[in-house]
Amino acid sequence: MKRKQFIKSSLVAGAAITAGSGLLSSCKQDSIEELNVPSLNFNKKFSWRMVSVWPKNFPVFGEADIKFIDWVKRMSGERLNIKLFAKGELVPAMESFDTVQDGTADIGSGCSYYWFGKTPASAFFATSPFGMNAQQHQAWLISGGGLELWEEIYKPFGLKPMISGSSGVQMGGWFNKEINDVSDLKGLKMRIPGLGGSALEKAGGAAMNVPGGEIYTNLERGVIDATEWVGPYHDFKMGFPKVAKYYYTPGWHEPGTQLEYFVNIRAYNKLPSDLQEIIVAAAARVQAWMLAELDVQNAVYLKKIIDGATEIRSFPREVLIELKKFTMEAIDELIAKNTDAKKVAESYYSFRDKLKPWTDLTEKVYYNTIQEI
Ligand code: CA
Repeated sequence: MKRKQFIKSSLVAGAAITAGSGLLSSCKQDSIEELNVPSLNFNKKFSWRMVSVWPKNFPVFGEADIKFIDWVKRMSGERLNIKLFAKGELVPAMESFDTVQDGTADIGSGCSYYWFGKTPASAFFATSPFGMNAQQHQAWLISGGGLELWEEIYKPFGLKPMISGSSGVQMGGWFNKEINDVSDLKGLKMRIPGLGGSALEKAGGAAMNVPGGEIYTNLERGVIDATEWVGPYHDFKMGFPKVAKYYYTPGWHEPGTQLEYFVNIRAYNKLPSDLQEIIVAAAARVQAWMLAELDVQNAVYLKKIIDGATEIRSFPREVLIELKKFTMEAIDELIAKNTDAKKVAESYYSFRDKLKPWTDLTEKVYYNTIQEI
């Protein structure tokens, strides 16, 4: 094609596109949105509201909300702006799920085990005692069918889940009583939620429900004998080394807690496809950032804890065996009453079993040999 002809053809094609855009922009915007046809108007801006279960500037988890919003804003050329409402700023943390479901907010930031009362199946998408670590849990969600199951469970609520970071393996918690054998669990008053709490109760302990802001005082005054929280960084900031003697490992009750965003499906469907992908991409970036940030901060703060007066202890193997037995009993009781929970728990634990031989031969051997040299 000669240069002159090419320019002429390009001009004609350009005119056709312009005419097409004109036709589309003359349609009523609402009807396009209802049909879920991505808008071709790249100047259209969207304003969303995020409700978070994390307090304002809460270490790592709350900081991640701010990063996510900033990344979405910059990737979208400021076409999608999200206003953050931290815990309590718009609604109490435990109302976040309902607030996104009814469309008062468009996206929520939290952890799916908080919605156990709405659907017990949700607990397993966060973590489960004696379950998978962060890497394995992520493999289940991304490549093992876990996320599809999660979408299926949240769909009746009009919500779409996305992965948004992990705590990694948590610590076993802060104790003022030594745990030397199974009998030491009897009468132990510990702040520990969820299925881990059920297992402790079966072992004769008392699982206490203490809000975050009251744990320190309860531990100091002996209202509780022990508490779990997250890991060295978060625990140090809570002041626990000042009020507990022993720091136990591992966090058998939360081996790799996965955090989540839950998005209102109607709001999501109104976005053009590029903005939809930007949200998914920003969430995936949070997923990578959080573990990296926690590995660094936990290493720094573990040193501070070790340098202090705290004794680091490991739970005896017999105690863990007992707690695992009671955990499985608690899960059996739960899934006998709820078919969704049964389906998700079976997927979760069968995926763990499927990965085990591979993990045993690689990660486990690596940690036990190479890293010990
Ligand atoms: Ca915890």
